[in-house]
Amino acid sequence: MSDLPGQISVREVGPRDGLQNEDPVPTDAKIELINRLSATGVGRIEAVSFVRPEAIPQMADAAEVWQRISKAPSVRYSALVPNLRGAGRALDSGLTEIEAVVSASDTHNRKNVNRGTEESLDDIAVIIDQAHQRGATCQVIVSTAWGCPYEGDVPVSRVVRVAGRAVADGADSISFGDTTGMATPRRVRELVGEFRLAYSGVPLNLHFHNTRGTGLANVLTALELGVADFDASVGGLGGCPYAPGATGNIATEELVYMVEDMGVATGIDLAAMIDAAADAEQIIGRQLPSQVLRAGPRTRTIPA
Ligand code: ZN
Repeated sequence: MSDLPGQISVREVGPRDGLQNEDPVPTDAKIELINRLSATGVGRIEAVSFVRPEAIPQMADAAEVWQRISKAPSVRYSALVPNLRGAGRALDSGLTEIEAVVSASDTHNRKNVNRGTEESLDDIAVIIDQAHQRGATCQVIVSTAWGCPYEGDVPVSRVVRVAGRAVADGADSISFGDTTGMATPRRVRELVGEFRLAYSGVPLNLHFHNTRGTGLANVLTALELGVADFDASVGGLGGCPYAPGATGNIATEELVYMVEDMGVATGIDLAAMIDAAADAEQIIGRQLPSQVLRAGPRTRTIPA
């Protein structure tokens, strides 16, 4: 364990990736949830995405949410954008950190944004330039990095090539997204290893879903490889658009619970994150999958 990073940076993606895969919730409830999360000690929050409201009605109020949340100085807020138009809206709204997303799988990318991976990468080169011109940073998220619901396995070489194109075009960092929870520790080792070999100096963020129960095992493997930036979603909010009823992102409080006990600092107050997860459950109106939310910290005692 001595080789693990001393601290990691967690990006809370519940307000975006989580809520995007749930029934729409009122704008005020979103704002309250983000404000609550901002007070947990988390360093990064993916607050909204700027997507077509017809495509994703859950994010139709992105600009309003962004305007009205209380921005904590200790938190870096970001927005996800699928294309040039979304990037323009995000930058016009004053975001200084955006994430442009492209699927490693051509079929998934076409289903998502109606164009192939290469065409999206062409647009992303422009998005990166626009972000930089306006003093913002741009992370490129390569989704379906561990597999695609339409094509199955995506070759590691292809995923690394897609990320490499983004790096060559000036991406500030790369994130690999396990969009439908197909990653396993062995596959994390393969992809992170190949990427690091080719692009050792590029900051790398990982985004795991717990769809098949391997989320935290994947995190542990990545920690052993020195990765220190992870996405997670409060309460395990969210789901999988291709598997009705399946669980969503790894739960933030479960991630915090595990790594803090291994001596890896997150800056997050576990009790505050569990409280936020309970709030998220109220907002959604159904039980969320987080087991730490159910059981509490391991040192929680009951009256004898
Ligand atoms: Zn996701």
